[in-house]
Amino acid sequence: MSSEDFRCAVSLRLGLLPDRGICQVCKRDSLDSNGVAATTCNRSVSRFTKHNEIAKIIADQGQLAGFPAQRERLLLFSNRQRPADVQLSNFNGPRPLAIDVSVTNPLASSYVSRASIAPLSAAKARDETKRTKYSRLCFENGLDFMPFTIETYGALSKIAYSFARVLINRTCALQGDQDPVTIESQFRFLLQRISVTLQSFNASMIRSSSDRSALGVAVAEHSTDDDLPEPPLLPQED
Ligand SMILES: [Zn+2]
Repeated sequence: MSSEDFRCAVSLRLGLLPDRGICQVCKRDSLDSNGVAATTCNRSVSRFTKHNEIAKIIADQGQLAGFPAQRERLLLFSNRQRPADVQLSNFNGPRPLAIDVSVTNPLASSYVSRASIAPLSAAKARDETKRTKYSRLCFENGLDFMPFTIETYGALSKIAYSFARVLINRTCALQGDQDPVTIESQFRFLLQRISVTLQSFNASMIRSSSDRSALGVAVAEHSTDDDLPEPPLLPQED
């Protein structure tokens, strides 16, 4: 991650992005301090690259776990729908597993009311939408189907989290490593790979959609100690 991307990622996390502005990619007056418009902009090339890089991580880990992975062979059914970004063989019986990767923003208008009450509700809703759309279609074409959804700010859906765990358990078993500490550390490393990829491309999307001077001012305004409020006094420990 470049220094600029890192600064954007921190600004996003701390709510220091400009609270309005015109997206330099799609030219809509849509930018917001939570980065919702920037990280979901339909015109952004990084949006697709982000998705593809996460799919690549899953395919790579599937391969390491002993499940032959295909990513280039994009499934296209007769109705032109394409449900799989990654296809794993031998995962759960003879039927290949089609995995649909998606990133969804819990602050998007369609999710925010539910997401403000229940964590992971955006990911869960996306999972259900994908299942409704593709499960039957995949079954009829000889495939099992699984959505792999990540929320824009880093949370994995329960399905995605469990699946990542299975891939790591299988990888370690193949390597003959049953040490729980090693398994946990490999699992954490996979989550970190996904997270850093996500944060990098989020930052890249914010940089490309924001006016550079607006982005610089917004960060600089909060970048000196003089502008920060006094930290609260902590109670003395006995
Ligand atoms: Zn845009």
